[in-house]
Amino acid sequence: MRTKIIAGNWKMNKTLEEAKALTAELISMASEIKGDAKMVLCVPFPYLLSTKDQLGKSRIQVGAQNCSEQDSGAYTGEVSALMIKSIGIPYVILGHSERRQFFKEDGKLLAIKVDKALGNDLTPIFCCGEPLEIREKGTHEVLVRKQVEESLFHLSAESVKKVVIAYEPVWAIGTGKTASSQQAQDMHAVIRKQLAAKYGDGVAQQIPILYGGSVKPDNAKELFSCPDVDGGLVGGASLKAKDFIDIVKGA
Ligand code: PEP
Repeated sequence: MRTKIIAGNWKMNKTLEEAKALTAELISMASEIKGDAKMVLCVPFPYLLSTKDQLGKSRIQVGAQNCSEQDSGAYTGEVSALMIKSIGIPYVILGHSERRQFFKEDGKLLAIKVDKALGNDLTPIFCCGEPLEIREKGTHEVLVRKQVEESLFHLSAESVKKVVIAYEPVWAIGTGKTASSQQAQDMHAVIRKQLAAKYGDGVAQQIPILYGGSVKPDNAKELFSCPDVDGGLVGGASLKAKDFIDIVKGA
């Protein structure tokens, strides 16, 4: 059975002081949580190390929200996978729809970023998902399959098993509109079937597929009870300790 993962994506929010206060609340609330769900906080770059240090031996882990496709050198403002590894951070979100939309990241670039992450022993949380117009046209499965194929299918079976996939329909991100549990399950099953066709069912069954898009305490349990939904990538609700912890409880 796959262990559930609940990852919070803080995006570009919080000052250092606020980040510390939220982390402190999460540490104290996380101690009440039973079960083995993994918790990850994907925080802005300046807070990676302090958040990791603050979490200490807590069961919550830390992730970055992006990494460069380059190894090192004259790339002002960029942060490499090696830098993230060097401060002991295990996860990195790649291909979030906001990066695809605002920073024009495409499948080819993301394939390189995935390689950089894996090459530095980071677990990529690889995001895919369709915008509203594609959902309305009914071609959402075609697009998501293409996103997965373009950025992950160059990997060996051994490597792809180290990836976490997050299906995030763009129309549900930050909009308060959640995909129904049926819509989420249907797409997750499509992705798992695609992985099975390429890598075999044994590999496909090991890859966690998270759902993201307005996950809240009141819809988390239903979403996470779908057979192919292995947890969530949570934006807005991860900025409030109680909401995030209640979502984890839903897992
Ligand atoms: C996200 O940014 O990955 C996300 C899912 O955001 P929200 O939960 O706010 O929709």
